[in-house]
Amino acid sequence: MAGAKNSNFAEKLTPYLQQKLVEASEKYGIDSKEYKAFEKQYLKSSKEDEINHEDRLRHYQSEIHVHYEGKALRGVERLYRRTILLEPTMVCAAHCRWCLRGQYPQFGLTEEEITTFAKYCGSDEVKYDLKEILITGGDPLMVPKRLEFIFSQVNKFAPNIEIIRIGTRVPVQDPLRVNSELVNILKSVDPIKLEIGTNINHPSELTVEARKAYTDLYKAAFKIYDQSVLLKGVNDDVEVLNKLYDTFRYLGIESHYLFHCIPMQGMGHHRTSVQRGIEIASQMINSGGVSGRAKPMFTLMTDLGKITLLHGTILERNEKNELLIQSHYTIDDFKYRNPSWELPKSAFEDNNGFLRVWYPDGNDDDEGKSDSTKDIEHYFSIPINRVKK
Ligand code: SF4
Repeated sequence: MAGAKNSNFAEKLTPYLQQKLVEASEKYGIDSKEYKAFEKQYLKSSKEDEINHEDRLRHYQSEIHVHYEGKALRGVERLYRRTILLEPTMVCAAHCRWCLRGQYPQFGLTEEEITTFAKYCGSDEVKYDLKEILITGGDPLMVPKRLEFIFSQVNKFAPNIEIIRIGTRVPVQDPLRVNSELVNILKSVDPIKLEIGTNINHPSELTVEARKAYTDLYKAAFKIYDQSVLLKGVNDDVEVLNKLYDTFRYLGIESHYLFHCIPMQGMGHHRTSVQRGIEIASQMINSGGVSGRAKPMFTLMTDLGKITLLHGTILERNEKNELLIQSHYTIDDFKYRNPSWELPKSAFEDNNGFLRVWYPDGNDDDEGKSDSTKDIEHYFSIPINRVKK
């Protein structure tokens, strides 16, 4: 599992990743970007013990739990009208230090729970809206047999589902797991379409073995898309990102999001400021360094969900170094998906009925300190109606 809520997030690497660390240190040295790409993502830093009590325990405070026939469904969350999330396991091949899964409780779903989930997806209550399932965790490719069972149950009980998406880092953490047996299990999803969401943060992760794994998935006709995370000292560099997104294109991996690293307890040293992220994303996207076919959307994961940074989305900064972000989510949208949804403490409704949310900014110095005097205004024009917290 990725980790336990409120506990230490254990260091976990596959033998493959350990080998890559050794190879990178021998070939490039331990101060090289190639070595740091693995070290910073997988080796525990003493900075994780420096807890800032302003940090969130979990960044996503507006989880939308689902009930069916009077019972809460474990490992299930309604994301959007169209999409529901299922977490069948919390096991990952390796532990990424920056991942919020480090604060999730351990569990694995039983077959009975999976069948109940599939029945809920096909029930009259949701079947006219629900079209898509996102399977994440943990890493679902760590439990292929359970995945096969999910496919069979959804195909049996929820014919309204058109797409299943899987979130995985197995191809960059343990690529030999992507073998013909696994590919055949994935093909059993048919007639539902399968999309594979992955997360690659540095070109060094695309080793010969990882490229073969992605190519085998691509040749099996699955759509693959990437959601990278901007990580300080790993890929907060235009050249690194140019190379990464260029390589995706040649591997048939679609660029989707470039996420600002989430605010999470003890992990501030992985986070750049949002301003730095905008500078990097802007230089990468608007300089001809990356093909227009491979440009990601620079996006924040807020307490309301994902918000892509566009003109007018950042409204102001407060004294706690939080940025006020404008969304176009409404309370009615969330209540429609789940009547028990409650507005997170960090969010409020604006005069037009849209939600705004405070988002903790990151820092650009090595000590994890912020220069909150820097104003973000020259990147965004500020709407006239300012709202103070
Ligand atoms: S990013 Fe994926 S593989 Fe890494 S710890 Fe998080 S859930 Fe596990």
